[in-house]
Amino acid sequence: MKALVTGGCGFIGSHLVDALLDQGMEVVVIDNFSTGRPENLEHQKGHPKLSLHVADIGEYGAIDAFFEGVDWVFHIAALADIVPSIQQPLNYHKSNVDGTINVLEASRKAGVKRIVYAASSSCYGIPDHYPTPEGSEIRPEYPYATTKWIGEQYVLNWHKVYGLATTSLRFFNVFGPRSRTSGTYGAVFGVFLAQKLAGKPFTVVGDGKQTRDFTYVTDIVDAVITAAKTEAAIGQVFNVGSGNTYSINRLVELLGGPVTYIPKRPGEPDSTFADITRIREVLGWEPKVSFEEGVEQMLAHIDYWREAPVWDPGSIAEATKDWFKYLGK
Ligand code: UDP
Repeated sequence: MKALVTGGCGFIGSHLVDALLDQGMEVVVIDNFSTGRPENLEHQKGHPKLSLHVADIGEYGAIDAFFEGVDWVFHIAALADIVPSIQQPLNYHKSNVDGTINVLEASRKAGVKRIVYAASSSCYGIPDHYPTPEGSEIRPEYPYATTKWIGEQYVLNWHKVYGLATTSLRFFNVFGPRSRTSGTYGAVFGVFLAQKLAGKPFTVVGDGKQTRDFTYVTDIVDAVITAAKTEAAIGQVFNVGSGNTYSINRLVELLGGPVTYIPKRPGEPDSTFADITRIREVLGWEPKVSFEEGVEQMLAHIDYWREAPVWDPGSIAEATKDWFKYLGK
């Protein structure tokens, strides 16, 4: 069996590659190193069943040859984060929308048997109901959310039109070792762990009572592989969450350290919380790693964030200027 992972050098992708190799599969990775890092697969270097191609999914001709003989495709590559998606919507469209249609077309032409797409819970925007089921209204608040949602539409349409065996999984707040360290101001774990290492206060947004459905990366990987193995997943969309939701104050309590407060941002939900009834019933999947265990694992790997930028209220205000400007209207 041969699997192809787009974004295999990224945070989620590299954990998926580890699991697929553990299961004895041959694994082809495509990554353009825009946010993925070769270090994330350093421990697999020289593995006889792993091949890595530095290529951009936004260019069909740069990737199509790698799909030959592939059984399963896991399309994990994407540009993430809110602010850069507001500043460079064309880049986001190219990677997340053109990239997805390129992966679908290359898969279709190569006769790939299963495709699993990494979709985003950001499609729900600020939802009316918690926990939020898959049938909720779609309300993307910013271009990142929009592009991931359009990608999902292509993925489902390629099942409907061409009979491709696709599945879309909407991930909720994934966390774990190797979550991104560099570049733009982004997901809370990277921000807080770098602050902890530097002995600086955690920059808590608002009053810290907002909650997120923090889902541990190995549970996500397990859901992705289960989806690829399950016939009933074809043509379907599933939320993937932890079954719970946790406040930022709770996260701070677990990490331990001083706190400073920064303003609440427009367009941010007070909570994310997946209704995971469907994935439980159809795939028999269950999240296994508790929030507390997950945070413990992050602390055990805290050295990974040593090179990460250390944000403070001033640099965050500067980095999120466009967020307030465009979403705060
Ligand atoms: N957050 C925070 N301080 C930060 C960055 C984020 O308190 O410096 C909070 C943010 O308000 C949100 C949660 O952490 O409630 C998760 O933010 P992240 O950007 O990781 O995910 P998203 O908001 O996209 O769900």
